Amino acid sequence: MTDDNFAAAVEAELVELSGLLTEPGEHECLRCYLLRMINEFGCDGKHRWTSRWRDLRAPRSTGLVARLQRLGGVCCDCEVLLNVFPDYPDAGALLPCAGQRQPGSSAPCDLRQLRRSA
Ligand SMILES: [Zn+2]
Ligand SMILES: [Zn+2]
Repeated sequence: MTDDNFAAAVEAELVELSGLLTEPGEHECLRCYLLRMINEFGCDGKHRWTSRWRDLRAPRSTGLVARLQRLGGVCCDCEVLLNVFPDYPDAGALLPCAGQRQPGSSAPCDLRQLRRSA
């Protein structure tokens, strides 16, 4: 394998990997998805992750970003987390999403329930 081929192969793998890594889980709620993405990739000052979650998990919620903006997530994904989903359990680490069972709903999962049963 030449250096060029190797670089191309690594790049293709990275692209594939980042596609998978930034894909919301099948029942992952918007809040846990935003936390995971901002933790891994940071915020770009816009609603990049909110839009991605919406496109993949709630494509009919065309007013989602506008609604979150009215709730305080004005400029970007981290404002959505801070102002719309402020009650994250203080676990010192990211918790696995407990699962949003209503497809297309942006309501956060119930992590307290998860901790009780754990
Ligand atoms: Zn931000
Ligand atoms: Zn969740």
